[in-house]
Amino acid sequence: MVKLPEWRGKEVFRTYGVPLPKGRVVRSPEEAAAAVGPGGIPLPCVLKAQVLAGGRGKGGAVRFASTPTEALEAARAILGLEFKGEKVKELLVEEKLAISQELYVSLTLDRSLRLPVLMASARGGVEIESVEDHEIARVPVHPFAGLTSYEKRAAAKSLGLTGPKARSLDLLLDRLWEIFQKEDAELVEINPLAVVGEGLVALDAKVIIEDDASFRHPQYAEVRDDRTPLEEIAREKDIAFVQLDGNIGVIANGAGLTMATLDVLQQFGGRPGVFLDLGGTDDPKKVTEAFLLMARARPAAVFLNIFGGVTRCDTVATGLVEAMKEVPASERFPLVARIRGNNETEGIAILQKAGVTSLRDLRESVQAAVAAAAGRSAGGMGGPA
Ligand code: GDP
Ligand code: MN
Repeated sequence: MVKLPEWRGKEVFRTYGVPLPKGRVVRSPEEAAAAVGPGGIPLPCVLKAQVLAGGRGKGGAVRFASTPTEALEAARAILGLEFKGEKVKELLVEEKLAISQELYVSLTLDRSLRLPVLMASARGGVEIESVEDHEIARVPVHPFAGLTSYEKRAAAKSLGLTGPKARSLDLLLDRLWEIFQKEDAELVEINPLAVVGEGLVALDAKVIIEDDASFRHPQYAEVRDDRTPLEEIAREKDIAFVQLDGNIGVIANGAGLTMATLDVLQQFGGRPGVFLDLGGTDDPKKVTEAFLLMARARPAAVFLNIFGGVTRCDTVATGLVEAMKEVPASERFPLVARIRGNNETEGIAILQKAGVTSLRDLRESVQAAVAAAAGRSAGGMGGPA
């Protein structure tokens, strides 16, 4: 998935003529201060962290400033953030517009209709997932006919726009459709689309380019995708590792057991923060690497659920004990293990000797992991929301 950062999405918007606030990307507080004021970005201004995760507004990653000094301080605060696991390296500094309303519009693919769909809601500025279904208009678009005045009128009506504002919307939606088609996007979203005077301005930009079409768009080759930094490392090491938004790490073997383990954990009130699928490996080197990666995700506790079929439980246990020794003291976490199957008695003995809570019963072991995590922290692990 090629998900463009906001500033990059806005570059695309600019190319196609979607109205935008005046803005510039900066990488240091000094640069932010120098960018604003006479001759530059007009004050007051908005400073926005360029991270892929949403919810920046609520998360302190969007700030306002009225003077260069305030811009400096705001930039300093945001550049120091680690937002949902991603270090903030770039800011978008934009003029702060006087907005009278925040709307939502997007074009995406509806997989059940097998058609592009235009979505519009008068409840912009909040994440669309939190908006009630009946407050979102969904208008299917014929891929060959494109957006006709019919769909655009339907959108204007649901947004409550008339007169010049409806005409602005009409023009804007044409641009959006053009982007959607020519750039092979699977999502083009503006949230919020702000009403400024009688016009409309895109305050945010979310553009996702269809993976299978990326060969047609070498200009996006540089864009990072949706993986977190740890997921990126895992990919290079060929480890199946996915970050979620909870605080408990899950290590299991096989996709089926891993998914089932996440479900059971959830059922007992635990929130999975990352899962790691060891697959068929009991190669001690691989296990150690996987374990170190898990440690870096800072889980409040880790639940290990291994079934020894071909792999032997005692081999896995030995590998684990070795791996645990490699974890730096500052990154240690409580571990609850359940290993069943081939040579399980030996495996459990090895783990217990190393001080790892090792239980046979699924329910008991899951509850122990949830309790261990609750004792440690209430926060998340910094995965994507
Ligand atoms: P997100 O929360 O990560 O989606 O970040 P957004 O780009 O959507 O910005 C969050 C919120 O900041 C918006 O919903 C607006 O309320 C506010 N905001 C952003 N730019 C401006 C601006 O130019 N003027 C005003 N008044 N508010 C802005
Ligand atoms: Mn937004």
